Amino acid sequence: MDEEFMDIPISNVEITFRVSTVDGKQVYSAGITYSRPLPLKVYGIWALRQGIPVGILNLTQEAQPPFAECFQVLIATDERAMWGRKCPHCGGYWRTGSPGLVQTAVCCYCGGHSEAHECLSDAQRVYVEACCAIFRRVLDEKKDGQFSIAARKLLEGVEVTSFDGPPPEFFVEKSRQTKFSCVACGNHNDILGRYGYCSTCGTRNDVSMFESDIDAIRSALNGGGSPTTALKEAVDAFDTVGRNFARQLLGQVPMTPSRRAKWERANFAQLSDVAADLKSDFDISILQGVDAVDCRWANLMFHRRHLFTHKGGIVDQKYLDDSGDAAVQLGQLVRETKENVHRLLSLLVRMARNLQQGFHSIIPVHPDPVRYHQEAEARRRRSEVP
Ligand SMILES: [Zn+2]
Ligand SMILES: [Zn+2]
Repeated sequence: MDEEFMDIPISNVEITFRVSTVDGKQVYSAGITYSRPLPLKVYGIWALRQGIPVGILNLTQEAQPPFAECFQVLIATDERAMWGRKCPHCGGYWRTGSPGLVQTAVCCYCGGHSEAHECLSDAQRVYVEACCAIFRRVLDEKKDGQFSIAARKLLEGVEVTSFDGPPPEFFVEKSRQTKFSCVACGNHNDILGRYGYCSTCGTRNDVSMFESDIDAIRSALNGGGSPTTALKEAVDAFDTVGRNFARQLLGQVPMTPSRRAKWERANFAQLSDVAADLKSDFDISILQGVDAVDCRWANLMFHRRHLFTHKGGIVDQKYLDDSGDAAVQLGQLVRETKENVHRLLSLLVRMARNLQQGFHSIIPVHPDPVRYHQEAEARRRRSEVP
């Protein structure tokens, strides 16, 4: 497991550039060779001769540049078989195991979409510019043949102009904090923080993260942990995920100033209010599939969590009025049970899934990478059948 913020060098591939003369005209193409026994993936882009990326190179078809005289530049993964990405919308940086060729790449942080050539990392931009500078120099010699250079030698004698300050550390990507495989499409993502979109299909990872939190809470509870602590942690985790979705809705859905102000303050620890608001404002039903008895009961548990957090677990009049809890009296110390908390945890998981599903019905995911992954998984399962 890589440490956080660790330097990860781009694979030191050998870049080749072949020039020939056909009917008095220079014809050229680029390639990559690599001999080290490390996993390596490559995709190609088109770049203007001065080094500006302008399109994706389709390696499976006859390659036609988007503009005349573009260079082909092949971009290899770093030494962990991932590519660095930088969002052209928010400037966020992450790493991905898939460059986003099937459908647009999705920013893990803001959810903005971009083509694979539009979200190159700083190191890749310098690499592209340096490749183009070398290719121009080779063409200027007006000789046929094949030229090759190791990637890490590219910058020697090449002046890079696309950065005002000193060029970024050459060919080094930086590991982030949370690596997750997308449950929908299988892509490996490496992001700052903990929650985000899958870079390939755009599925949020909040519910996966939430479910692993809930598993940990269940284990602690079963191991003799305090039910009160478990209740507080579970509602806090639910509130965190809820606020994540509220933030993404604010970022991606146009809304009036008053609605915006309301969602900036959204508090997912107040279950009945937030469930009603999600339904009225976004047609998201987080209580879908939860019957009326469980709804009332989940509400009661949320009020209890408030009591434990703010009143030391002593019943006050507000709790009696708001929760409708008829089993306790004013001034009583509430004692939480393990069974109650387990029942709530199951309901929270259902509500979190409903929230994510409702969110993606507004902000859809890319269907193609998800379908490819499902088909590959089905093939894998079939091949495992004895
Ligand atoms: Zn972004
Ligand atoms: Zn995905």
